[in-house]
Amino acid sequence: MMGQDKKVQTLFDEQQIAGRVRELADEIKAGMPRDFVVVGLMVGSFVFVADLVRELSRLGCRPAVEMIRMSSYGLGRESSRDVHLMSEFGMDLTGRDVLIIDDIVDTGHTLTFATDFIARSGAASVKSCALLDKPARREVDFIPDFVGFEIPDRFVVGYGIDFGLNYRHLPFIGTIG
Ligand code: 5GP
Ligand code: MG
Repeated sequence: MMGQDKKVQTLFDEQQIAGRVRELADEIKAGMPRDFVVVGLMVGSFVFVADLVRELSRLGCRPAVEMIRMSSYGLGRESSRDVHLMSEFGMDLTGRDVLIIDDIVDTGHTLTFATDFIARSGAASVKSCALLDKPARREVDFIPDFVGFEIPDRFVVGYGIDFGLNYRHLPFIGTIG
Protein backbone atom coordinates (compact mmCIF):
# COMPACT_ATOMS: atom_id res chain seq x y z
CA MET A 1 0.00 0.00 0.00
CA MET A 2 1.24 3.43 -0.96
CA GLY A 3 3.37 5.03 1.70
CA GLN A 4 2.09 2.90 4.55
CA ASP A 5 5.40 1.19 5.15
CA LYS A 6 7.32 4.44 5.63
CA LYS A 7 8.72 4.91 9.10
CA VAL A 8 6.86 7.54 11.13
CA GLN A 9 8.90 9.57 13.58
CA THR A 10 6.88 10.98 16.46
CA LEU A 11 6.70 14.77 16.56
CA PHE A 12 3.87 15.19 19.13
CA ASP A 13 2.65 12.25 21.18
CA GLU A 14 -0.90 11.74 22.46
CA GLN A 15 -0.26 13.47 25.80
CA GLN A 16 1.32 16.52 24.17
CA ILE A 17 -1.57 16.84 21.74
CA ALA A 18 -4.22 16.40 24.44
CA GLY A 19 -2.54 18.99 26.66
CA ARG A 20 -2.32 21.54 23.88
CA VAL A 21 -5.91 20.91 22.75
CA ARG A 22 -7.08 21.63 26.33
CA GLU A 23 -5.13 24.89 26.36
CA LEU A 24 -6.49 25.83 22.93
CA ALA A 25 -10.05 25.28 24.17
CA ASP A 26 -9.32 27.75 26.99
CA GLU A 27 -7.93 30.29 24.53
CA ILE A 28 -10.89 29.85 22.19
CA LYS A 29 -13.43 30.18 24.99
CA ALA A 30 -11.76 33.44 26.03
CA GLY A 31 -11.37 34.74 22.46
CA MET A 32 -14.71 33.86 20.88
CA PRO A 33 -18.19 35.28 21.49
CA ARG A 34 -20.42 33.20 23.79
CA ASP A 35 -22.32 31.60 20.95
CA PHE A 36 -20.36 30.45 17.90
CA VAL A 37 -20.24 27.92 15.07
CA VAL A 38 -17.32 25.57 14.45
CA VAL A 39 -16.70 24.82 10.76
CA GLY A 40 -14.09 22.10 10.27
CA LEU A 41 -12.31 21.51 6.98
CA MET A 42 -12.51 17.87 5.93
CA VAL A 43 -10.89 15.47 6.06
CA GLY A 44 -7.65 16.32 7.83
CA SER A 45 -9.19 18.18 10.77
CA PHE A 46 -11.74 15.55 11.79
CA VAL A 47 -9.82 14.15 14.78
CA PHE A 48 -8.78 17.63 15.95
CA VAL A 49 -12.35 18.96 15.66
CA ALA A 50 -13.68 15.94 17.56
CA ASP A 51 -11.24 16.47 20.45
CA LEU A 52 -11.50 20.26 20.46
CA VAL A 53 -15.31 20.48 20.58
CA ARG A 54 -15.39 18.03 23.48
CA GLU A 55 -12.85 20.13 25.39
CA LEU A 56 -14.94 23.21 24.61
CA SER A 57 -17.99 21.36 25.89
CA ARG A 58 -16.21 20.58 29.17
CA LEU A 59 -15.62 24.33 29.52
CA GLY A 60 -19.33 25.03 29.07
CA CYS A 61 -19.24 26.10 25.39
CA ARG A 62 -21.98 24.77 23.13
CA PRO A 63 -20.78 25.42 19.58
CA ALA A 64 -22.75 24.25 16.56
CA VAL A 65 -20.48 22.04 14.45
CA GLU A 66 -20.35 21.66 10.67
CA MET A 67 -17.73 20.26 8.30
CA ILE A 68 -16.99 21.36 4.75
CA ARG A 69 -14.72 19.85 2.16
CA MET A 70 -12.31 21.89 0.11
CA SER A 71 -10.14 20.81 -2.77
CA SER A 72 -6.83 19.52 -1.51
CA TYR A 73 -3.58 17.85 -2.32
CA GLY A 74 -5.23 14.74 -3.68
CA LEU A 75 -2.69 12.00 -3.26
CA GLY A 76 0.45 14.11 -3.57
CA ARG A 77 2.35 16.38 -1.26
CA GLU A 78 2.06 19.70 -3.07
CA SER A 79 -0.50 22.19 -1.91
CA SER A 80 -3.10 23.17 -4.51
CA ARG A 81 -3.13 26.90 -5.04
CA ASP A 82 -6.49 26.74 -6.73
CA VAL A 83 -8.66 26.11 -3.69
CA HIS A 84 -12.38 25.60 -4.11
CA LEU A 85 -15.34 24.22 -2.22
CA MET A 86 -16.15 20.57 -2.93
CA SER A 87 -19.17 20.05 -0.71
CA GLU A 88 -22.48 21.87 -0.54
CA PHE A 89 -22.71 24.11 2.44
CA GLY A 90 -25.87 23.20 4.33
CA MET A 91 -25.84 25.70 7.16
CA ASP A 92 -27.14 29.28 7.26
CA LEU A 93 -24.29 31.32 8.69
CA THR A 94 -26.02 34.69 8.38
CA GLY A 95 -25.12 36.78 11.38
CA ARG A 96 -23.23 33.93 13.07
CA ASP A 97 -19.77 34.07 14.61
CA VAL A 98 -17.69 31.34 12.98
CA LEU A 99 -14.50 29.54 13.95
CA ILE A 100 -12.94 27.71 10.98
CA ILE A 101 -10.75 24.78 11.92
CA ASP A 102 -8.06 23.11 9.84
CA ASP A 103 -5.31 20.64 10.56
CA ILE A 104 -2.39 22.59 9.08
CA VAL A 105 -1.80 26.07 7.72
CA ASP A 106 0.97 25.77 5.19
CA THR A 107 1.02 28.12 2.16
CA GLY A 108 -2.08 29.78 3.62
CA HIS A 109 -4.21 29.46 0.47
CA THR A 110 -6.76 27.08 1.99
CA LEU A 111 -7.58 29.09 5.10
CA THR A 112 -7.53 32.37 3.16
CA PHE A 113 -10.11 30.96 0.75
CA ALA A 114 -12.20 29.40 3.52
CA THR A 115 -12.20 32.60 5.58
CA ASP A 116 -13.26 34.73 2.59
CA PHE A 117 -15.91 32.18 1.62
CA ILE A 118 -17.46 32.12 5.10
CA ALA A 119 -17.32 35.91 5.35
CA ARG A 120 -19.12 36.19 2.00
CA SER A 121 -21.76 33.75 3.30
CA GLY A 122 -22.92 36.49 5.64
CA ALA A 123 -21.18 35.48 8.88
CA ALA A 124 -20.95 38.26 11.47
CA SER A 125 -17.32 37.36 12.21
CA VAL A 126 -14.82 34.73 11.13
CA LYS A 127 -11.83 33.48 13.07
CA SER A 128 -9.56 30.54 12.34
CA CYS A 129 -7.73 27.85 14.22
CA ALA A 130 -5.05 25.47 12.93
CA LEU A 131 -3.56 22.67 14.98
CA LEU A 132 -0.25 23.03 13.16
CA ASP A 133 1.33 26.09 11.54
CA LYS A 134 4.30 26.07 9.15
CA PRO A 135 5.07 29.81 8.93
CA ALA A 136 8.17 29.21 6.79
CA ARG A 137 5.98 27.91 3.95
CA ARG A 138 3.57 30.83 3.74
CA GLU A 139 2.79 32.20 0.26
CA VAL A 140 -0.03 34.53 1.24
CA ASP A 141 -0.31 36.73 4.30
CA PHE A 142 -2.41 34.68 6.65
CA ILE A 143 -2.19 34.46 10.41
CA PRO A 144 -4.58 32.06 12.13
CA ASP A 145 -6.20 33.42 15.30
CA PHE A 146 -5.45 30.23 17.25
CA VAL A 147 -2.53 27.84 16.65
CA GLY A 148 -1.72 24.58 18.39
CA PHE A 149 1.93 24.15 17.47
CA GLU A 150 4.33 25.94 15.15
CA ILE A 151 6.40 23.41 13.22
CA PRO A 152 9.29 23.57 10.77
CA ASP A 153 8.93 22.69 7.09
CA ARG A 154 8.43 18.95 7.54
CA PHE A 155 5.75 16.69 6.05
CA VAL A 156 3.56 15.38 8.85
CA VAL A 157 0.94 12.65 9.21
CA GLY A 158 -1.34 11.20 11.86
CA TYR A 159 -4.13 12.50 14.13
CA GLY A 160 -6.38 12.83 11.06
CA ILE A 161 -3.65 13.98 8.67
CA ASP A 162 -2.98 11.65 5.75
CA PHE A 163 -0.46 10.85 3.09
CA GLY A 164 -2.08 9.08 0.15
CA LEU A 165 -5.11 8.33 2.38
CA ASN A 166 -2.92 6.47 4.89
CA TYR A 167 -1.90 7.37 8.46
CA ARG A 168 -5.04 9.29 9.46
CA HIS A 169 -5.77 6.70 12.14
CA LEU A 170 -2.56 7.30 14.09
CA PRO A 171 -3.28 8.80 17.55
CA PHE A 172 -0.06 10.86 17.40
CA ILE A 173 1.54 13.26 14.91
CA GLY A 174 4.74 12.24 13.18
CA THR A 175 6.95 13.00 10.23
CA ILE A 176 7.69 10.75 7.30
CA GLY A 177 10.84 10.99 5.23
P1 5GP B 1 -2.26 25.46 2.49
O1 5GP B 1 -3.42 25.82 1.60
O2 5GP B 1 -2.13 26.32 3.71
O3 5GP B 1 -0.98 25.34 1.72
O4 5GP B 1 -2.49 23.99 2.89
C1 5GP B 1 -3.19 23.55 3.90
C2 5GP B 1 -3.51 22.09 3.66
O5 5GP B 1 -2.39 21.40 3.10
C3 5GP B 1 -3.79 21.43 4.97
O6 5GP B 1 -5.17 21.42 5.23
C4 5GP B 1 -3.29 20.04 4.76
O7 5GP B 1 -4.34 19.25 4.28
C5 5GP B 1 -2.26 20.15 3.68
N1 5GP B 1 -0.89 20.03 4.26
C6 5GP B 1 -0.01 21.00 4.53
N2 5GP B 1 1.11 20.52 5.08
C7 5GP B 1 0.94 19.19 5.17
C8 5GP B 1 1.74 18.13 5.70
O8 5GP B 1 2.86 18.30 6.21
N3 5GP B 1 1.21 16.88 5.62
C9 5GP B 1 -0.02 16.64 5.09
N4 5GP B 1 -0.43 15.39 5.04
N5 5GP B 1 -0.81 17.61 4.60
C10 5GP B 1 -0.33 18.87 4.64
MG1 MG C 1 -6.51 19.91 4.65
